[in-house]
Amino acid sequence: MKNVTVNICPVCGCGNHKPVFECKDYFALGETFMIKQCDACGFRFTDNFPEEEEIGRYYKADDYVSHTDTQAGLINKIYHFARSIMLKQKGRLAEGIYKENGADVNGEDKNLLDIGCGTGYFLNEMKSRGWKVKGVEKSADAREVAEKNFGIELADDISVLSSDVSNKQRFDIITLWHVLEHLHDVNGALKNIREMLKDEGTLILALPNSSSFDADKYREYWAAYDVPRHLWHFTPDTISRLAVKNGFIITKYSAMPLDTFYVSMLSEKYKGNSVPFVRGMFTGLQGLLKITGSPDAASSIIYILKKKI
Ligand SMILES: [Zn+2]
Repeated sequence: MKNVTVNICPVCGCGNHKPVFECKDYFALGETFMIKQCDACGFRFTDNFPEEEEIGRYYKADDYVSHTDTQAGLINKIYHFARSIMLKQKGRLAEGIYKENGADVNGEDKNLLDIGCGTGYFLNEMKSRGWKVKGVEKSADAREVAEKNFGIELADDISVLSSDVSNKQRFDIITLWHVLEHLHDVNGALKNIREMLKDEGTLILALPNSSSFDADKYREYWAAYDVPRHLWHFTPDTISRLAVKNGFIITKYSAMPLDTFYVSMLSEKYKGNSVPFVRGMFTGLQGLLKITGSPDAASSIIYILKKKI
């Protein structure tokens, strides 16, 4: 198997990195991977992760919830419940941003691209709000579910769409809901996205926050390290630096409070706790108190980005 060693920090270019701790792949194959941290900018990443062509098998466990739609188990049921609430919120957020840009939300030309769209629920939400939608999803299984459930046809790679840029296929809004941390070439992806986004358009990123309250509490058991599927572990500071490097600025960001509960329950399960639901709920409530007033301690954060022209 071929693995990728990160020699140069993708955020700042520094070549000096130190090990933080080893994390285990609790979800699929049980292998361990070292989390490293850049000496210069503090960016954390998974070291020695599988190449793009090899990583598919780490998603293959039966219940990778965002690919298969499985409802099995209490924690997956909670995921689905949280998702139904989040879908409406995400839809309102996207439309709110569109209105802030001075555009007519009832107009017919508004279009949105969701990269890493999984089984297509968010695209379907936006389609039902009158948006023209396109999506990119690598997992053939997830694409099939999206096509069957919602009749939405998806591309398997960003490059399929970015080659259309010459045909003026540009988007008002591009979203990556918990996706950037999975992409091997983050700088390349952001470059493509910048080209596909209208100058006045908005990029929305949702990312786990490795400087969150729950990340500090669970350390190597923190479920959102999710090695080796998560290659990069962003914080508000490091994503801000990466954004600037790629011609974007973060105009605002906000906490995703429900993620704290889901991630804490999974983390308790990984730690071997016999009542992960109860303990996770407790940590989730503590987390809610921590993020009152500032999203910086939140388990997951939504970032709103604009092009720096
Ligand atoms: Zn760095």
